[in-house]
Amino acid sequence: MRLRPFRSVALFAVAMLAACAPVASPPPVVPAGGPAESEITASAIATHVKFLSHDLLEGRAPATRGGELATEYLATQLALAGFAPAGDGGTYFQQVPIVESVVDRGFTLAVPGRTYKYGDDVVAFSGVEDARVAVRGEVVFVGHGIVAPEQQWNDYAGVDVKGKWVLIMVNDPPAPADEPTLFGGKALTYYGRWTYKFEEAARQGAAGALLIHTDESATYPWQVVQSSWTGTQYSLPPAPGAPALGVKAWIANAAAVDLAKRGGQDLDALRAAASKRGFAAVPLTVTATAALTQTTARKTSPNVVGVLKGTNAGEAVAITAHWDHFGTRAPAPGEAADVDRINNGAYDNASGCAAALTMAQALARAGQAPGRSIYVVFTTAEEAGLLGAEYFATHPPQPMDGFAANINVDGANYLGRTKDIVMLGADRSSLGPMLATLAGERGRVVGEDTHPERGYFFRSDHFPLAKAGVPALSLSEPKQFEGPNAAVLLAKQEAYNGKDYHQPSDEFDPSWDFSGAADDAKLLTQLAWRVAAAPAMPSYNDGDQFAQVRKR
Ligand SMILES: [Zn+2]
Repeated sequence: MRLRPFRSVALFAVAMLAACAPVASPPPVVPAGGPAESEITASAIATHVKFLSHDLLEGRAPATRGGELATEYLATQLALAGFAPAGDGGTYFQQVPIVESVVDRGFTLAVPGRTYKYGDDVVAFSGVEDARVAVRGEVVFVGHGIVAPEQQWNDYAGVDVKGKWVLIMVNDPPAPADEPTLFGGKALTYYGRWTYKFEEAARQGAAGALLIHTDESATYPWQVVQSSWTGTQYSLPPAPGAPALGVKAWIANAAAVDLAKRGGQDLDALRAAASKRGFAAVPLTVTATAALTQTTARKTSPNVVGVLKGTNAGEAVAITAHWDHFGTRAPAPGEAADVDRINNGAYDNASGCAAALTMAQALARAGQAPGRSIYVVFTTAEEAGLLGAEYFATHPPQPMDGFAANINVDGANYLGRTKDIVMLGADRSSLGPMLATLAGERGRVVGEDTHPERGYFFRSDHFPLAKAGVPALSLSEPKQFEGPNAAVLLAKQEAYNGKDYHQPSDEFDPSWDFSGAADDAKLLTQLAWRVAAAPAMPSYNDGDQFAQVRKR
């Protein structure tokens, strides 16, 4: 694994702290007047998890009775803790509109001489809510489809794609030997994610976008694209006047090769050129036509939002945790009546909500107001694509520029105490050194993201806030369990990921040990308090992709 430049600096700082730490763990340093950390206990966390993952909540799907029960519980707990409502109209609920859409399998994408087959060659959905969408235009190959000023990279330079199709490669351009940190080296940057590709294509005014799927670039086979992008899709309604793509599609590699050939080009040659600096987009001499029919429905589901007003209420810190999960699946034909079909989501993410509730309680019992205000936000529709967090970031209760930090909890450790705390994003902003200092004070260390190439930073609710320029951290899985059972516990963690993740078996177990989660929650509560009190706002490191937002 190649280290990012700022990561290596952060690791060096952590290594220094670890080297200076005495052999025995020092007692926690808890400054007077800070959050009431004694409110955060393993049993309090377990108690909330037990309720939130109860079968009666039916898997907490958005816009269901079980989901509503979960949000009522969270709002009630915030009220009891002493957080003020910060949702719509003096309530704790910020209603998020969600578009459900199903594309008809009769979708067609055609060029002269060939119609690509829906399912086998192409899958598609739309960025607009119209029942019928037609896109007809020239196809332009735009390489990786990236506009990254801080990398001096622009795949759209000198080409006008308004009203046209763009044909795009996924992932980041590879880092050459003479520029080893280009696009994060081996780490995936947001420019490499498929969601970015569609967003940029829309900003450029394209009418339709075709993402080229290869097994290697996606790291999963075409069947996964097929199953993920057919059936019901969820999205936020496009903001009025915001650019939106009529057709967002994935195209299988063989079909993309054929399309380029009909446009007078060799796709492999185009791809090779697009992987080097100085690439210019190539218009293909072919016009493509697509017709898409869809049924859409609007639903609403709330984010639960509470605030602890600070003495500097013009600025804020946000603690986030998603409350939603996958609900109860329909019975399969011939399935026995007693098969468990409830996706309880005990770890994902009743545990994160539970930890955040105890953090809220500790903050509210500090005995004094925080510096900046502190929001606790339980987001909806994370599992459907971070929709609640995206809505919060675009409809914040106060301007996003005044948000000093976001701390996200998506899964709290149920396997006991650990030496390390792992926070995605610690290498990106000045929150990383603050976190390292706090961990050091508590005889702990900041662990690293062991899979930066998987882009986990882009996959939970802190990410829409990061995109809005807010320095963000998200709690991830620890690796250094304490005690003689450390190896067994690590194996248990891996077994969960293989067997229980997003399954009905993610259920509350009375033997779960949230003492490590309590340690993490105490540390993060103190971090929130310190960020709220710090004279200056935290900031992204120079050169980080998200530093651009507040510079603009
Ligand atoms: Zn989750």
